[in-house]
Amino acid sequence: MAYLNENYLKLKAGYLFPEIGRRVKAFCEGNPEAAKRLIRCGIGDVTEPLPAAVVAAMHRAVDEMAVRDTFKGYGPEQGYEWLRGAIAQNDYRAHGLEVADDEIFVSDGSKCDCGAILDILGDRNRLAITDPVYPVYVDTNVMVGHTGEADANGAYAGIHYLPCTQANGFIPEPPQEAVDVVYLCSPNNPTGAAATREQLEAWVTYARKHGAILLFDAAYEAYITQPGIPHSIYEIPGARECAIEFRSFSKNGGFTGVRCAFTVVPKTLKAKTVAGESLPLHPLWSRRMTTKFNGVSYMVQRAAEALYSAEGKAQVRALIEHYMGNARILVAGAKAAGLTVLGGVNAPYIWVGAPAGYTSWQAFDKILGEANVVITPGSGFGRNGEGWFRVSAFNSRANAEEVSRRLQALRW
Ligand SMILES: *Cc1c(COP(=O)(O)O)cnc(C)c1O
Repeated sequence: MAYLNENYLKLKAGYLFPEIGRRVKAFCEGNPEAAKRLIRCGIGDVTEPLPAAVVAAMHRAVDEMAVRDTFKGYGPEQGYEWLRGAIAQNDYRAHGLEVADDEIFVSDGSKCDCGAILDILGDRNRLAITDPVYPVYVDTNVMVGHTGEADANGAYAGIHYLPCTQANGFIPEPPQEAVDVVYLCSPNNPTGAAATREQLEAWVTYARKHGAILLFDAAYEAYITQPGIPHSIYEIPGARECAIEFRSFSKNGGFTGVRCAFTVVPKTLKAKTVAGESLPLHPLWSRRMTTKFNGVSYMVQRAAEALYSAEGKAQVRALIEHYMGNARILVAGAKAAGLTVLGGVNAPYIWVGAPAGYTSWQAFDKILGEANVVITPGSGFGRNGEGWFRVSAFNSRANAEEVSRRLQALRW
């Protein structure tokens, strides 16, 4: 009989969203009238349709595929040159950041890239991951065997957890000890916190000192509203020597169902062999993509390219303004309700402290039962999320306004 990958057996059962689903289902079955007014602010998925420029570009691309002369088969595994060029130019060089077209690798999603990156990193790296966290960073490391078992609190042996709390504004600080690979997500899912330039400088300084690599997830970069908050890790001098950046069209272009993202691997980024030789990672990632990936569909890459057209940019702005308008309404409502509110300024997530005496799940049950609103319990993202909950701004304006009213009507 064949052997299975026992690392998968170490994974804590996908607990958070199934448990939310179970509680919501039970509530709706027991309260059919209240179920009719249920509003979901739980899942981090966009709600608004694709920008018109994207739809038009996709239609054109499909028509090209329908004609022998313009039909496309396999494209370059790393992405079409015109898309890599549009990304490097618009997202980096237009902002004075040095990123070459061939340092951009187009993919079908940042979630996939965050997991796939482990293919090119060795298995003796000391890992640092924030708590609370986007669970993908942890689980992908568990799957490839970079951790031991989880303890009773769900913390895995072999991961150095970086505590994010109200005291540090939910932005992790570099640890005292040396680690080799650090996952950072700014603006953050789930907390909505965005790192300042000084905070990211501290991380780049730390990484350069220890020869560490920063895996920087900037999926929510487009939601930054405060001037001075870096949109890219490459705004920090020295980051080209220590950071990989993940970006996605999921949250800016509404591509969660279309699937397109990219990863930036600077040619100046190196890691070492066990023998101590320092080598660039760029050729490894390129090789990984050509071997294990066959590129994103032509229609989807044309759709992504359209996000960089003048109309596309204006339509993306409008989408972001819609969601951030919701965020402002939710922040105001939660504050008026007397709750502690973080996030919602540079990210579409509001991170709310449950009133004293309530755990995250108790707050969840109360908000579901009395306000008929589904939120996400912070404890599901890690131990330091206990006592907090996440409210997503991905919704219609009418729903955001209604949720804001209902939060204010709640009596704790
Ligand atoms: C939504 C999200 C992404 C994007 O993932 P895709 O696979 O590109 O849809 C990446 N990181 C975080 C933290 C996210 O919340």
